[in-house]
Amino acid sequence: HAKSQGKNNIQVYENTLHQALIYERQIQKDLVVAIKNHQLKFHYQPIIDLKSKNIIGFEALTRWHHPTKGLISPSEFIPIAEQTDAIKLLDEQLLDTVGAQLQQWHQYTDKPYYISINISAHRFVDSKLIDDINQVIEKYHLEKGQIVVEVTEHILMENKAKARHLFHRLKLAGIRISLDDFGTGYSSLSYLHQLPFDILKIDRSFVTNITEHNQENPIINMIVALANTMKIDLVAEGVETPLQLETLSKMQCQFGQGYHFSKPLSAEDTLKLVKNGH
Ligand code: C2E
Ligand code: MG
Ligand code: MG
Ligand code: MG
Repeated sequence: HAKSQGKNNIQVYENTLHQALIYERQIQKDLVVAIKNHQLKFHYQPIIDLKSKNIIGFEALTRWHHPTKGLISPSEFIPIAEQTDAIKLLDEQLLDTVGAQLQQWHQYTDKPYYISINISAHRFVDSKLIDDINQVIEKYHLEKGQIVVEVTEHILMENKAKARHLFHRLKLAGIRISLDDFGTGYSSLSYLHQLPFDILKIDRSFVTNITEHNQENPIINMIVALANTMKIDLVAEGVETPLQLETLSKMQCQFGQGYHFSKPLSAEDTLKLVKNGH
């Protein structure tokens, strides 16, 4: 009896696995079509100077509204896109759209906003990355500093030697590099030591920890001190409450990003913000 039960369990497991595979294949097919048809949209989340409350830049975040499954998170579809060549097309669209966006904004403001883009692992080790960014900078008459590249430690870890090489080339080309989700990896500190980042983004989990009951934040304090010493800009991710803003500001964290200021906005809404001179 026990034996047949075990067999049934395996059957259930295999069915579930099969379903999951079918789902993933379907999503992958839909995604390729959506990317080819320019159906993925780019949203922009403001990055704020915590003292002056001025916007200094934006992070580009990709949005996919699936026709029947609704909004699917980039944490879900980016890894799927990475399994096919479609990711290259998406990266191209993102980079070109970001360039066009910055040029358009420039008609309405003199502020040298930047847009930071999240880079996938495959992209970061692709030496074409720098040429592609340079091309967009030229095409849209941008300043070099206006496009920032965001990488996670995870990406660097996968390909240490190549990452280091590309890092120095990006530096030489004047393109700034931001370390995303800082503090969540295994060896964040050793990366700082080896690679000349321009910007650190304190992971949201540390910011979420700032509550009325928990106002001591030795880790954030340490990261602020570190950034100051190394002359790296610091952005706190996921600032959601006035208390978090106030606490970070008191701790001398310079910049922040989060729902307290704004959710990621559509291109139209971002343009309105830029036109209003924020
Ligand atoms: P990330 O780069 O760390 O982006 C920050 C994420 O936090 C975004 O989620 C953003 O919408 C969310 N967020 C911002 N402020 C708050 C807040 O106050 N509270 C909370 N709870 N969340 C906040 P999103 O847009 O779902 O993106 C998730 C991840 O997907 C990103 O994490 C990034 O790693 C990746 N991703 C997004 N767009 C792209 C893309 O175009 N290319 C690549 N390679 N990855 C992307
Ligand atoms: Mg990011
Ligand atoms: Mg992040
Ligand atoms: Mg993240």
